[in-house]
Amino acid sequence: MTQPTPEPEDVFAWIDGAERLREEAGLVRTLRPRPADSPLLDLASNDYLGLSRHPETVRGACAAAERWGAGATGSRLVTGTTELHTELERGLAAFAGFEAALVLSSGYAANLAAVTALSGRGTLVVSDAGNHASIVDGCRLSRAEVEVTPHGDVEQVRKTLAGHGGRALLVTDSVFSVDGDAAPLAAYAAACREAGAALVVDDAHGLGVLGEGGRGALHAAGLAGAPGVVATMTLSKSLGSQGGAVLGPAKVIRHLVNTARAFIFDTGLAPAAAGAALAGLRLLEREPQRADRVREVAAELYGRLTASGLTAVRPDAAVVSVRAPSAAAALRWAADCREEGLSVGCFRPPSVPDGISRLRLTARADLTGDEIGRAVGTVLRTAPAGAT
Ligand code: PMP
Repeated sequence: MTQPTPEPEDVFAWIDGAERLREEAGLVRTLRPRPADSPLLDLASNDYLGLSRHPETVRGACAAAERWGAGATGSRLVTGTTELHTELERGLAAFAGFEAALVLSSGYAANLAAVTALSGRGTLVVSDAGNHASIVDGCRLSRAEVEVTPHGDVEQVRKTLAGHGGRALLVTDSVFSVDGDAAPLAAYAAACREAGAALVVDDAHGLGVLGEGGRGALHAAGLAGAPGVVATMTLSKSLGSQGGAVLGPAKVIRHLVNTARAFIFDTGLAPAAAGAALAGLRLLEREPQRADRVREVAAELYGRLTASGLTAVRPDAAVVSVRAPSAAAALRWAADCREEGLSVGCFRPPSVPDGISRLRLTARADLTGDEIGRAVGTVLRTAPAGAT
């Protein structure tokens, strides 16, 4: 007689324990579809210039899909490069002041590609402790010796670079996602020059916001196109589309095309996203005041919230980060804002390494004075005890 087959063990039983711990700590995350016509006032998205729904970017996406199809059909080196990709690369490089650019399927992939292709075994990568997860992952994949230096600590960067004889790379965000503060780019660049190291700067939050007409943080710091400097970007924030890019000397871009695995083995950016990003870029070139406006809105949000007693970091770009007394309070605060018609971001562990939970408001160039007033009023009215 054959034995009945025993019920298979749940191979994912270990997840149950992890889920329980997350629940107990109040750190469970869930996905919530955003209605197409959300009644909420949006201070949570990264649509800094309000271009994601602008008729020109939407038309750019539609026209590109009509002309080139819904998908890129292959990796960039095979069938995934269209004239749009090439035009976008030329446009981005010219706008931000670099010799050449390479478009990838996301800002995440751009950071993986830049960091891994420019480092490797036997090299040193110095990474600011506040860097975005995609840079952290690039460092992990690089097989280089990685040294994480305290956030914004130029002296430590200098010492770390000096202690290494070989090829080295310093990588930093231009504006940090959690607090919205800027990196000491000029000092970081000087430290790199002294040590003969390369500098890679993720300008995800600087493009469209900082520098003349939104040309980015590197342009603002006089570092665009400088030898030894490479920028990475996302097309998903100011440009209102999706995708990423690496900008730098043409030789560096050719090296990435030939060696960066996050570029070579990834399907090219969808034509619609390239078309929308190109339309967004042209809009920004034509309407440079959008960049000034987003900084004004951020400054106003910060000024009014802190004048009423909240603790926030002075914004260097579009992100305004407001301290919450605890993770649970931050969550409740964001939920209360939502109940009152305002969508804000909420950062809590493990997204914040320092354990400090925050509400994260993002300024948009297209917010009206009335909307700013409503947003400030709602955040203040719903502020938990201990926040002021
Ligand atoms: N770098 C920074 C600083 C970011 O904030 C983000 C996006 N959230 C990325 C990189 C990743 O860009 P993408 O979303 O295009 O992958």
